[in-house]
Amino acid sequence: MKPPRIIENSPLARLARLKLQAGSVAMVLGNSIHLSGTTRAQFLSDPHWVAHEMEHIRQFQQYGRFGFLWRYLLGWVRHGYYNIPFEVAAREAAERDALLYAPNGQLPPPENRHPTPGR
Ligand SMILES: [Zn+2]
Repeated sequence: MKPPRIIENSPLARLARLKLQAGSVAMVLGNSIHLSGTTRAQFLSDPHWVAHEMEHIRQFQQYGRFGFLWRYLLGWVRHGYYNIPFEVAAREAAERDALLYAPNGQLPPPENRHPTPGR
């Protein structure tokens, strides 16, 4: 798998940030991670956050652009953002895979983690 592209100051991520009323947001489209309210460096320094978004990239590849977006929106309407099945799976992946993205093999303390929107 080729490494994802990271896009800072993304207008699309900004819309998502406003919708979710979050301070910072990362959003996956295809093989790109769109950021708003955060920098590439801040994002990459949070292994749980990276692992979460990498799971969305995997989901996107599994279901395809339209399959992913359709299921995502349907899940949002049916369950609310926090309980979208893709989000539940991404939160689980964050716990499971964070160490893979920890640069020095150490996870940062919980208070340094990006807060999950919509709780
Ligand atoms: Zn997510």
